[in-house]
Amino acid sequence: MTLEQLWAGWRLEYVEEASAAERSGSADACVFCRIADSGPPSADNGVVWRGPLTYAVLNAFPYASGHLLIVPLRHVPALGDLTEEESTELWRTTVAGAHALTCAYDPDGLNLGANLGRAAGAGIPKHVHLHVLPRWSGDTNFMTAVAGVRVLPENLDDSWRRVHGAWAASSTSRG
Ligand SMILES: [Zn+2]
Repeated sequence: MTLEQLWAGWRLEYVEEASAAERSGSADACVFCRIADSGPPSADNGVVWRGPLTYAVLNAFPYASGHLLIVPLRHVPALGDLTEEESTELWRTTVAGAHALTCAYDPDGLNLGANLGRAAGAGIPKHVHLHVLPRWSGDTNFMTAVAGVRVLPENLDDSWRRVHGAWAASSTSRG
């Protein structure tokens, strides 16, 4: 698999919902802003952790079970638009998310990254976000995503319970 194919796996993220919302032209067209306004973490909004400036949400169109998006509450397009406090919390949340996924799934590895801008494959280019997802030796999620078919071994409610529980347990144990 080439690097191009690997990163192409994230291009379809939220694309269906984004295009429908963008077509409507409504003020609340940004799905990440709607999630930011959706209240505390729950299986309904898919948010597994929420801080003062950022949150972590399960990707509604995952490429692996536990595919997390780490998102600032504020609607800004670029990493450079984040305040120092937002940048710091975004990274801490990313680290905590990687730890929670490791506890929840015991994967063989993790992918961590960002698609910045449409040309890089961002589904929601105007609201910056990072991806964290568990990987397993021999998994086929990226390949099937490229082919337009996704293999989802676990439904989102089960993923939410698993990741939310692991995140709560690991933050408790760290004090
Ligand atoms: Zn937004």
